[in-house]
Amino acid sequence: MIATVCTANPHKLEEFAVLFPDWGLALLDDADFPPEDGLTYLDNARIKARYGRLHGPADRWMIADDSGIEVAALGQGPGVVTARWAEGRHVEKLLGALDGESNRQARYVCALVALSPGRDEVCATGVLEGTVALAPAGGGGFGFDPIFVPVGEANTVAQLGDVWKAEHSHRARAAQALLAAV
Ligand code: IMP
Repeated sequence: MIATVCTANPHKLEEFAVLFPDWGLALLDDADFPPEDGLTYLDNARIKARYGRLHGPADRWMIADDSGIEVAALGQGPGVVTARWAEGRHVEKLLGALDGESNRQARYVCALVALSPGRDEVCATGVLEGTVALAPAGGGGFGFDPIFVPVGEANTVAQLGDVWKAEHSHRARAAQALLAAV
């Protein structure tokens, strides 16, 4: 399968290449995406995939994702507005928001949308349950990874590293579900 990854973040191409090893992937050239103002992760992934369908190569699949963190003590927020909420200071913002809070339960969520050349849509969602640590640890990953400890693990995602993420992350689980569905 040959597909175009619809994202404004070039780093995503490397991540997707690991998750879709048998696919030939390229970034969408013209990446002037409309605002991600959907109410759900799936809506926002669909906005990017449909933009790619309109502007990208007609003979390729389009794939796009959207993700966020849902924190129990924050009413399952920030959720779909995670990137805006974090303002690039993921660890500081979340540790500050949970200061003195004993309920540290959280989950990462990822939605993936793939659109075929004929506009058939395949969607998949992946979830990684965990807790928010009291202090950062580990140098891998990005975003909240230094303070996110998956259920069943003793270490943060930043300590577990990229090889672990490629198999177990919310994005990896969404990719596994998508691959089973296309
Ligand atoms: P996006 O879907 O790539 O725009 O990500 C939305 C927000 O969730 C951004 O603030 C990311 O930093 C954060 N996020 C998404 N995936 C991960 C992850 O695997 N680890 C840590 N933070 C993540």
